[in-house]
Amino acid sequence: MTELLHAATADDYVATMRATVDAVAHRFRTTTRPFSGASLEHLQELVDAVDLDGPGQGTAAAVREVDELVVRHAVWYHDPAYLAHLNCPVALPAVAAEAVLAAVNTSVDTYDQSGIGTLVERRLVAWTAGRLGFPAGGGVFTSGGTQSNLQGVLLAREHARADVPGLRAEDLVVLATASSHFSVQTAARLVGLAPDAVRLVPTDEDGRMRADALAIALRHVERDGRHAMAVVATAGTTDRGCVDPLAAIADVCDAHDVWLHVDAAYGCGLLVSPTRRHLLDGVERARSVTVDFHKAFFQPVSSSAFVVRHAADLRLLAHHHDYLNPEDADEPNQVDVSLQTTRRFDALKLWTTLRALGPDRLGELWDATIDLAVGVHALLADDPDLRLLARTDLSTVLFRYQPDGLDDARADALVAPVRRALLASGRAVVARTVLDGRPCLKLTLLDPTTALADVRHVLELVRRTAADTLADAQPLAEVTP
Ligand SMILES: *Cc1c(COP(=O)(O)O)cnc(C)c1O
Repeated sequence: MTELLHAATADDYVATMRATVDAVAHRFRTTTRPFSGASLEHLQELVDAVDLDGPGQGTAAAVREVDELVVRHAVWYHDPAYLAHLNCPVALPAVAAEAVLAAVNTSVDTYDQSGIGTLVERRLVAWTAGRLGFPAGGGVFTSGGTQSNLQGVLLAREHARADVPGLRAEDLVVLATASSHFSVQTAARLVGLAPDAVRLVPTDEDGRMRADALAIALRHVERDGRHAMAVVATAGTTDRGCVDPLAAIADVCDAHDVWLHVDAAYGCGLLVSPTRRHLLDGVERARSVTVDFHKAFFQPVSSSAFVVRHAADLRLLAHHHDYLNPEDADEPNQVDVSLQTTRRFDALKLWTTLRALGPDRLGELWDATIDLAVGVHALLADDPDLRLLARTDLSTVLFRYQPDGLDDARADALVAPVRRALLASGRAVVARTVLDGRPCLKLTLLDPTTALADVRHVLELVRRTAADTLADAQPLAEVTP
C-alpha cells in the first residue's frame, strides 16, 4: 500500500510534499494578480468537468490537477491588490506547522489521543489569557470567531440559568449593537433564545456601543420583566474596525451584574501591539473573549480561541462520556470544554509562530498594518473623487467614488458594478458594504508588507473603473428621469 502515510511510505511522503511545495512556490513566484479573473461560469465548467467517479490517477497527477484547477484560480490573499476581507497573509512557521499537524494528524479532544498536543494548546490558551489579563483564565481553540461567539453566548446562558433558577429561555436578552458580527444573532437562535432576544444598543457616530445607552437598555430589559444574560461588545467591528469602549461598558455590566463577552476576533492583534494595546483596556473585566488568530496573527485558517476569565466557568459546559472523557478522568481532556469532538491541532501553528518570531515581532507587523491604514486614510482625505466615509481604530477603509457634481443615487449605483468589474479583471479585489444606509466600497488591510503605493494603485483602478462605468451608463442615465 503506497497510498497511506506510514513508515513504509515515508519516502513517498517526501516526494509528494516536495512536488507539492515546488508547485505552490512556483505559483507564488509567478502570480501577479489577486485573481485569475475567470468567470463563475467558466470555473463552474472546470469543476463540473472533473469525473469524481473515474479511476484514480495517482497522487502526483492529482496534485498537478489541483495546481492547475484550484491554485491557479485561487483568490490570492498574498497579492498586494487583494484588499477585500479579513484574510491575512500567513506566517511561514505556521505553514510549516500546518504540514506537521496534517501529517501527524493529532486530534485535540482527549489527552489519550493528543498527549503533548493538549498541553501545548492549554499553554497557549493560558498565554492568551495572560495577555488578556486573565491570570486564572481558561479556554479552548475553535474553528473561528463564529464558533467562539456561539460558545460565549451558550456559556452566558448556562451561567444565567445557574444564577437565577426558573429563568425561561424566552425571558433572556443579549445586548449587542448594529455593528456586532452577525454570528451573535445566529448564536442567540442556536441556543434557543426568542427571535427578539438580541437588542441593539445605540452607537456613536463611529458605530461604537455607547455605555450610557447600554445602561438605559439594561433598565428597559428589567422594566420589561426580562433578563439580560449577556452584553456582547466588539473590539474591532468587522466593517469599520472600531473598538467599543470596553472599560465603560464593563462598568455598566458590573453595575447590572451581566456577563460581558468581548468579540475581539479582529482586534486581538492589539494584544501584542507595541503602541495600541490601550485600545483593549477593560478587556480584562470581560467574562469571555473571542480571538481570531487567523485574522490578526498571520495564521492559516483555521485558528481561533474562546477564552474565559475564570477557567472554572467552563465547567458550566462540561460533559462526560464513559468511552471518551469519564467524569473520574485524571487527565486534561479539552473535549470537556469544546463544542467539537475531533478537533484540529491548530494551536501548533501559533505556537510555532510565537517561537519563530516572538510576540513583539508579531505586534510590530500588526502595527505596521494599522499604520498603513492611517496612511491610506490620509491619502483619501485629500482626494477629489474618492470620499473617505468612516474612521477606524484598526485597518479598514470605507469610501465611495463621488466627485463633485455626481449625485448620491448615481454614486451609490456605481459601488456594486465597480467591485464586480475589478474582480472580473483579476487586477484588484475590494469589498463592498453598506454604511448609514448607503452602499460603499471597503478595503480591509491585513498585510504589513503592502506599501502605500500598492494601495494607491488599487485606488487608481477604482477611480478609472468608476469613471468608465459612469461613462458607459451616461446615455442610459440621460433617458431615465
Ligand atoms: C470575522 C469575525 C467573526 C467571525 O469569525 P470567523 O472566524 O469568520 O468565524 C466574528 N466577529 C467579528 C468581529 C469578526 O470580524
